[in-house]
Amino acid sequence: MTEQQWVRHADGCFRALVPQARVVACQLPLTLIIAGLYIAAPVAWPGLLDGGLCLSALALHTMLILACLTVPWQRFGPLAPLIVPVADLLVIGLICAANIENLPDPGVLSVLPVVWISASRLSSRASISLSFAGTLLAGLPYVFAPGPAPAQVRLAGVLLLPLMMLAVSLAMRFARAQLRNQQSRMASKETELQALLADSRDRERLLNTILDTVDVGIVAVDAEGHRLLTNSWQSQLEASAARSGVADTVAPDAPDTTEDVPVLTGQDRQTPLPQGRRPIRRALKGESFADYLVYFGEAPAGRVLSTGGRPLKNDDGGFRGAVIVFNEVTGLVEALAAKEDVVSTVSHEFRTPLTSIIGNLDLVLGDAEDLAAPALRRIEVAQRNAERLLALVSDLLLSANSAVHVFPRRTDLASLVEASLGSAHAHAESSKVALSMDVPAPLWAHVDPLRISQALDNLVSNAIKYSPDGGSVRISASTENGWVRLQVVDDGMGMTAADAGRVFTRFFRSPAVREGSIPGAGLGLSITKAIVEGHGGSISCTTLPGCGSTFTLELPAEGPPPAF
Ligand code: ADP
Repeated sequence: MTEQQWVRHADGCFRALVPQARVVACQLPLTLIIAGLYIAAPVAWPGLLDGGLCLSALALHTMLILACLTVPWQRFGPLAPLIVPVADLLVIGLICAANIENLPDPGVLSVLPVVWISASRLSSRASISLSFAGTLLAGLPYVFAPGPAPAQVRLAGVLLLPLMMLAVSLAMRFARAQLRNQQSRMASKETELQALLADSRDRERLLNTILDTVDVGIVAVDAEGHRLLTNSWQSQLEASAARSGVADTVAPDAPDTTEDVPVLTGQDRQTPLPQGRRPIRRALKGESFADYLVYFGEAPAGRVLSTGGRPLKNDDGGFRGAVIVFNEVTGLVEALAAKEDVVSTVSHEFRTPLTSIIGNLDLVLGDAEDLAAPALRRIEVAQRNAERLLALVSDLLLSANSAVHVFPRRTDLASLVEASLGSAHAHAESSKVALSMDVPAPLWAHVDPLRISQALDNLVSNAIKYSPDGGSVRISASTENGWVRLQVVDDGMGMTAADAGRVFTRFFRSPAVREGSIPGAGLGLSITKAIVEGHGGSISCTTLPGCGSTFTLELPAEGPPPAF
């Protein structure tokens, strides 16, 4: 128990006493000393029992003890018991006046009533004055008592004692004031702490309610992987996963897979996810990720979760755990799969008749001498539109397949660029757009020539399509650090920053393009992105409305052919 705790405990015990007991407790020290004096008197100071003054003192003190025990002090207010220490000073004064031979100065006993008065609720000024005046008055009879010492010596002695008691009283009041200050500071701190505690409890309740209301699973783990928090959605998910034998345990010795039970799998819904690829493990490695799909349970009844993780940092930026979010997207994934199924089936069914239409139109146009000019023009229009339709159907088919397959080999990009500009020539001429290229030949890259041609055709046809008459389109290329950088630059209509951020999203078309009724399906750039990323490369777009756009492709380069 610390000193402060001990003081508090003692104070608490004292306050718990009934008023009489409290007064008796204050009076007890003096009573014990006086009792000791009178018991020892027959042997040590026989005069103590002879003189009238001493006997009066004993009688007065006895009456005081009885009063302490019997008077209902609580009825007379908190200051009433102070009459006892004041009367004690009188008792001590009477013993002093008796001037008993060999008795050590009994005046020092005044310190006990003075301490009592000073510790009471009396105001500082009153308690200090009372301590001084009470001691002084109690000592006065001693000045006039018979004895050998001259009166002025006695007076000096009588004055010294009140001064000492004045000092004691001052010290007591000072200590008491300090204690009060400390107590009030502690009380206000305690109030603040209580308010903070109540506030944090409220916040915790609010947070828990929010966490348990949302339809996503939330898990927080510390740096060792111990759970700090699991919301109710997640608990239900884990309970159902446990029933089907799935565990994303974070225990370091957990088995990767368990025989005979379904486990978390990757996109193919068969290959079990290695421990290091499980969401909680990834987050524990400090990874920050989003939209990471994991599967469990057998298709089609299995479930799909989109997961995300963020590390938790402490004040110095050190890793202290992670928060992982699980969002069930089974319905969404199934709907998307169904939609893509429909799109790819329909597109596939369209292709055969369209190819037949185009083939037959080609045959008719190959034998065009017998045809009248208006009929020829109509057949050419029909052929152009059939080809556009076939291109659209091919795009739809390609974008419906989630993975674009590429077969890279050593390819001269310069010749692909040349071919792409060549096939766009007619389109550019009719749109009055100038085409140019600044590509060193040969420019070797490790790419799939068919797919990259498709990507270049998309970018060049967009650049022409979204440029006004008199515009220009330029393709430039350079090689750096094992990567080829291809840029398709136009000075056409450009886009806002918001449009540029969504330009690679499927079916996105900028509002300006929609309003301008420029034809298109919003698939070309998403396919181009998939092709470039299929090569391990990247594509980006910088643009400004009215100032044109630049599409930059990074593709893996390949050095010159080995010398013969
Ligand atoms: P489409 O051209 O068939 O609409 P894309 O996927 O090729 O589809 O392009 C998506 C959208 O991006 C276009 O509709 C257009 O709004 C914008 N866009 C693409 N290329 C350019 C460009 N060179 N200049 C301005 N806007 C472009």
